[in-house]
Amino acid sequence: MYPQPVCPDPVIRPGTPLPRVLIIAPHGSYRTAAFIQAAKQQRCEVLIASQGQYSIVSDYARGLQIDLGDHDKAVATILEVARDKPFAGIIGTDDSTTEIATRVASRLGLPHNPVEAVRLASRKDLARTRLAQQGVNIPAFRILKLNTSLAEQSRDVTYPCVVKPVGLSASRGVIRVDNIVELEQAVERIKNILANEGPLDEEQRTTLLLEQFIPGQEVAVEGMLSNGRLDILAVFDKPDPMNGPFFEETYYLTPSRFAETVQQQIQQQIAAACRAYGLVEGPVHAECRVNDKGVWILEVAARTIGGLCGRLLRFGTGYSLEELVLAHARGEGLELRRQDEAAGVLMIPIPEAGVLKRIEGLLAAQRVPLVDEVDIQIREGYELVPLPEGGSYLGFIFARGERVAEVEQALRAAYGCLKIITAPLWKIKL
Ligand code: ADP
Ligand code: CA
Repeated sequence: MYPQPVCPDPVIRPGTPLPRVLIIAPHGSYRTAAFIQAAKQQRCEVLIASQGQYSIVSDYARGLQIDLGDHDKAVATILEVARDKPFAGIIGTDDSTTEIATRVASRLGLPHNPVEAVRLASRKDLARTRLAQQGVNIPAFRILKLNTSLAEQSRDVTYPCVVKPVGLSASRGVIRVDNIVELEQAVERIKNILANEGPLDEEQRTTLLLEQFIPGQEVAVEGMLSNGRLDILAVFDKPDPMNGPFFEETYYLTPSRFAETVQQQIQQQIAAACRAYGLVEGPVHAECRVNDKGVWILEVAARTIGGLCGRLLRFGTGYSLEELVLAHARGEGLELRRQDEAAGVLMIPIPEAGVLKRIEGLLAAQRVPLVDEVDIQIREGYELVPLPEGGSYLGFIFARGERVAEVEQALRAAYGCLKIITAPLWKIKL
């Protein structure tokens, strides 16, 4: 059970030090700003730990520099800082920081998952193996080693399949393949992505996952674990077909239009996956596919939803998702009453690789009824890199309303107003 709700606006006596929370985030994470905001809202002092040595963003520059590629060292650095002034809560914002956050929280006696559980959840190969052992409904899979012959490892594969790296997220490097030639090409493409990637260990650089392509409708689910109990915060439908070869996120809509019985199966499968990993505390973000054979787990991560999509969730008490997570990390509870409005986001698709020249029609998009906000993330003159290589979002359109169909219509209408103008990018090879 959740403890009593904390007072949203505590009276702080002069001279009382504010509780300090540590947010561990990869540089440039979409999640950082929302957690800083949540900390301010809850009257906490914030320290950001990141690989931010070149940062000009003040919250990073004033923060703690850690090496995300060397977990032992990062943990030691943080514990050292905690000795001078304690932390009341630790948050890992993204897959690449949840393990460090968990290790620190366990050393400081703050709410945490078993380290092994978080490690499993952030490594797709380990995760699949564990879920299969525990009988969770997942696609048939095999692990590919990049230093062994691909032909030998893929001799008896039945297509279509999906091939993916084991340590990336946001659909980067996730590619559908329908035959051996496509598989070979995809593997080369993923090798290239991994070669240019920052903090990854040797295993993550040399291991891929090959699994059966599961047709069906996809949902994303946001949940919160508390003492092993899973509360579902929101189920999002992804209404557009996602058949590959790349899997760009577009529309997310909540509440889901799936029947209550299907939503219960979704919850049961995610809860089973959490038990299989050993996850017991904090946020979980999952993706499932639903078809006539049931609910399939594609991913369960021990973190919140990515991008700026956390803004979609609002709770009856006015708290944001990040406030909820922060309170939980401090061992306190906030009431989990969802607002019953419909909400949706469009992660604006990147039309093609190139340089963003300008986006026309922003004002018209913003004026579409029910549209809350059009938030463009890439500035003019910057490069647009589509999937499977790119990991950034061009921007987000948010809408809210009484009915989910109206919200979807508003998002589509707003997107229809936008004209994204790009120019080719000429790279000089030296
Ligand atoms: P990431 O952690 O990078 O988001 P995922 O494994 O969640 O990687 O895959 C990203 C997307 O690719 C999924 O949301 C889904 O649309 C698609 N996908 C991944 N694996 C499969 C699969 N086995 N069958 C069908 N679609 C898949
Ligand atoms: Ca995913």
